[in-house]
Amino acid sequence: MGTDIRVHQVYAGRVLHGPGARTLVPDEIERLGSQRVLVVASPSSARTAQELAVALGERHAATFGHPAQHTPVEVTAEALDLAGQVRADALVAIGGGSAIGLSKALAIRTGMPQVAVPTTYAGSEATPVLGETADGVKTTRRDPALAPGTVVYDPELTLSMPRGLTLTSALNALAHAVEALWDTEASAATRAYAVESADGVLSALPVVLDHPADVVARGRLQEAAWLAGACLAQARMGLHHQLAHVLGGTYGLPHAELHALLLAHVMRFNLVAAPDAAARLARVAYGDPVLAVSALAARHDGPTTLGALGVPRTALREVAERVASDPYPNPRPVTVDAVEKLLLAAW
Ligand code: NAD
Repeated sequence: MGTDIRVHQVYAGRVLHGPGARTLVPDEIERLGSQRVLVVASPSSARTAQELAVALGERHAATFGHPAQHTPVEVTAEALDLAGQVRADALVAIGGGSAIGLSKALAIRTGMPQVAVPTTYAGSEATPVLGETADGVKTTRRDPALAPGTVVYDPELTLSMPRGLTLTSALNALAHAVEALWDTEASAATRAYAVESADGVLSALPVVLDHPADVVARGRLQEAAWLAGACLAQARMGLHHQLAHVLGGTYGLPHAELHALLLAHVMRFNLVAAPDAAARLARVAYGDPVLAVSALAARHDGPTTLGALGVPRTALREVAERVASDPYPNPRPVTVDAVEKLLLAAW
């Protein structure tokens, strides 16, 4: 008895969602009883950060405006210095996964509460996970204390996303949902999130690409990204994320673009061995989900192949060997030859 029992950690935080939700951040700070807020903002969110500083008035302690991808420890040290100098007691992160990663790195070192205001679809705000880089080596940790207590989703903050970032970031989110669907240990709750998320991306993304200023469709896409982030928090990621980690880490490739171009290839490889995931995805894609995702990926104006991203053809075999030597949990066995073939198709 007991071998069929699984324990599922479900992440449920406080979420505000809707056009203009960012204007409620000062109320959230009031709720936390904080007096000295350090705002961590992506460069693209400088204006929103400035507006928030005005709205916070005396409770705005400082703004740190240059987070970096993959949370380098030197940048964290610099922001930590600033937090100490201004005696910060709470964090508000506004921006993409890089700003939210820095906020998490500061929170875990200081115990400060966090309010996250994401402006991309990366999903970091929904996870208790942090990847940090020191001396070029990325390490990942998981701790409930990393998850922001409040997340504020304001679709108006995504209107400024360039078309390419909109597309690749949304496919990055979809990858979280897809991998959750073929994780054989994912809970019913996670599967429900994943289906709703995939439905949201596949139905709202084409609308947003055609009508970038459609706040309703942007809101739906953001909801899909929220659920995808929860999938990332609650499910085990497989071959897709392993390829992204190995390729991204080795060649310093742009996170969202890499995910976007790999996804259809990994789906084509895995879905034959994951009939339940394939059936659920086919329902929300109204047809072949691989074709739906590759058609979306092909709408990118930027690089859509590993070759165009700068990965040398000669490196594919070695990447395949590294991945196959210690594979992440995956529905289909991961062999060197099969991964090399997949990479060649993506190349
Ligand atoms: P990012 O935060 O680096 O942002 C990419 C670029 O887009 C930046 O130049 C940024 O200023 C700009 N940008 C962001 N929002 C914008 C907007 N609304 N309008 C215009 N420009 C905008 O990239 P990302 O893809 O959001 O996040 C990637 C980072 O997040 C990586 O470091 C990744 O490892 C991390 N991440 C972590 C988790 C986790 O659970 N720990 C999950 C997903 C991603």
